[in-house]
Amino acid sequence: MARRQTVPAAIRREVIGRWGNDCWLHLPGCTGKGEEDDHIVPWSHRGRDSVDNIRRACKHCNAARQDRVLSGYGPNMHVVLGPPGADLMGAAEPYLQRDSIVVSHMQIMEALCPEGLYPTPAPALRAAAGSAWDAAYRRLAKSRAPVDVWLLRTLPMSRTHPRLLDEWIALDYSVTIVDPGAAYIFDRAGLDADALKVARQWYSLHLTQAGVNSKLAARHAELVRLGLRSADTTANVERVRW
Ligand SMILES: [Zn+2]
Repeated sequence: MARRQTVPAAIRREVIGRWGNDCWLHLPGCTGKGEEDDHIVPWSHRGRDSVDNIRRACKHCNAARQDRVLSGYGPNMHVVLGPPGADLMGAAEPYLQRDSIVVSHMQIMEALCPEGLYPTPAPALRAAAGSAWDAAYRRLAKSRAPVDVWLLRTLPMSRTHPRLLDEWIALDYSVTIVDPGAAYIFDRAGLDADALKVARQWYSLHLTQAGVNSKLAARHAELVRLGLRSADTTANVERVRW
């Protein structure tokens, strides 16, 4: 990848004058302070050294972003979250287009088992599917193609990224919570010990659509102020309405 060059001082001054010197990314662990010049459309996507394309970011966020783009500045990113047993694919299906990409843990496990998935997948298979999920996500999140990407997942966290949901909100992904209710999930037959553990963890997060929506609205207002989204929501990158 072409390495970033130094942004001319005059452009940096204008960036700070127009957009401020606070970190624009607000990823988990953000120090808030603009320490570096961050390209909205990355250098690797031929993003330019212009006042429009640069915002200030803290060192932590600039590194943690790993070239992932704000949703709509490459792929349109959608997340569907729900406990084990929730029909995540069913929630995404009505919105899928011909070239949509769906990253699903369950589908990856199925693809790895041509003879059919055991009711209780081996831990090694779960781990392999988890790694494949993460690799697919990281690669797609920094792509330039304007495709629709659907991320189907149970827990919005991983060992290395404990606050994935906050990262997705910062990058303005659409987030849909599919919760059929704890009673339905726990009464289902065939929930193995692992799935049960994950279901308990999922419900301990108390995720609600209303809670996520209010965080997304606050983030949207910041992005409008930063000139990265239009205040007129209908003019925005097309978003799914639920
Ligand atoms: Zn930051």
